[in-house]
Amino acid sequence: MSLSVLVVEDERHIRELVSLHLGLEGFECVQVPDGLEAVRAAASRRFDLIVLDLMLPGLDGIGVCRAVRRAGINRDVPILMLTARRDESDKVLGLESGADDYLTKPFGVRELVARARALTRRPRAAPAGDDTYQPEDGAQPTTVAGIEIDPARHRVRVGGNAVELTPHEFTLLYVLATHPGIVYSREALLAKIWKGETYVTTRSVDTLVKRLRQKIEPDQSDPRYVLTVWGTGYKFADP
Ligand code: CA
Repeated sequence: MSLSVLVVEDERHIRELVSLHLGLEGFECVQVPDGLEAVRAAASRRFDLIVLDLMLPGLDGIGVCRAVRRAGINRDVPILMLTARRDESDKVLGLESGADDYLTKPFGVRELVARARALTRRPRAAPAGDDTYQPEDGAQPTTVAGIEIDPARHRVRVGGNAVELTPHEFTLLYVLATHPGIVYSREALLAKIWKGETYVTTRSVDTLVKRLRQKIEPDQSDPRYVLTVWGTGYKFADP
């Protein structure tokens, strides 16, 4: 079964170029030219990836990202954001838009394909009612400091309440929480979460930690679970 990609880009030649090359790689592409159509498309069916331009008519890429992440069948979809300049890329990460990765225009076709493949390879929560997803290592559910983590179902509950995490957020929490008190450097987390992909920077780790904290910490200014170890990295609270 081919993987489906929603390609959101108002510049027609870029939209068609992206779709052509992802299509050649076996992805099934649905093309839309603006943000509002993108939100409608994402509400109508499940996608395996969204390639999303930042500057769009109607609703911009960050708005689309937030709308998709808020609710619905694609809230955990990997999102690859396309930006025109490096400073826009910074903005994408700085605003905590919910994108998993970004590419700065102009980008090479090979880089696009490599990132699309990387993002669609990652473990992802099964859709509601579908329990066929299995983790590679058959990991068992675990409870740490009141956080219940079920790797097989990609489910997390904090204090009994279900929390929706993206695949990266889930992996980060899983790595840290299964080794409470152990300090991980940003580089180590980068390697575990992004698995040797060369384009991400250690700053992506900080962004991911911030996003995870927004979802699981009762007080983000005084984290209880994911702690910063100054000058070193991060750890889950000591057991
Ligand atoms: Ca644009």
